[in-house]
Amino acid sequence: MEDRNKITADTLASDMKTRGCPVCNRIWESVFEFFAQWNYSLANNENIQKENAASLGLCPFHSWQLVAMASPQGISKGYVQLLRRIADELLTLSNRSGNRQEDLASLIKDSRDCRICSLMREREADYLQQLAEFITKQENRLLYSNSHGLCLRHLGLLTALVSDPEVVQFLLKEAAGYFGQLAKDMENYSLKLASRQRYLCSRDEKDAYVRAILHIAGGQNICIQGSNESWLKINRQGKNCEE
Ligand SMILES: [Zn+2]
Ligand SMILES: [Zn+2]
Repeated sequence: MEDRNKITADTLASDMKTRGCPVCNRIWESVFEFFAQWNYSLANNENIQKENAASLGLCPFHSWQLVAMASPQGISKGYVQLLRRIADELLTLSNRSGNRQEDLASLIKDSRDCRICSLMREREADYLQQLAEFITKQENRLLYSNSHGLCLRHLGLLTALVSDPEVVQFLLKEAAGYFGQLAKDMENYSLKLASRQRYLCSRDEKDAYVRAILHIAGGQNICIQGSNESWLKINRQGKNCEE
């Protein structure tokens, strides 16, 4: 059976043309596809609603992403069972003594077992593994040199997967050059604005501030607080990982 997540070298080469981070882009594409399909099922399929109630919905970050992407009617229909479950659990808790704080916290879905966080981790690990193989070839490193590189998070994860120290050095030097160029572009932008010469700003100078934040913080749609830690924890338990 064809692995639909298998990415060809051509696709990777094409992904490298982005002005953002290709790994962040790929993860968001998978999340977007999931939401597009799941929103509909959640609103219309009773089994999915039951399953959502049983698994306590999504982590806080993805709950808000759901609000941004789904319709009020869809969430209203899809979340009724989860709300009833929470109401029942709270009633049970009201009759119990002991540590309520932990019991209440356990009703909030954790990123470690949120279905979308899990999907993100899988896509991220899979894509980075393929990128690590891609970058071992000299001609692909030339393509990488002409790209905008990766965000810091994904650069760190990629260097952990690459075994050749020369390739790691290459990746870090490329990133150093890119961040240095961003600083120059941002300075030039400010200077041209100060001398009322905005019309002379290049495309690179105009969007340098957004690229800078994206390359430091990662793509805004997949930027989850603490996700670095959880990914690494999970990866440490994975079969491809060495202590
Ligand atoms: Zn990234
Ligand atoms: Zn999540």
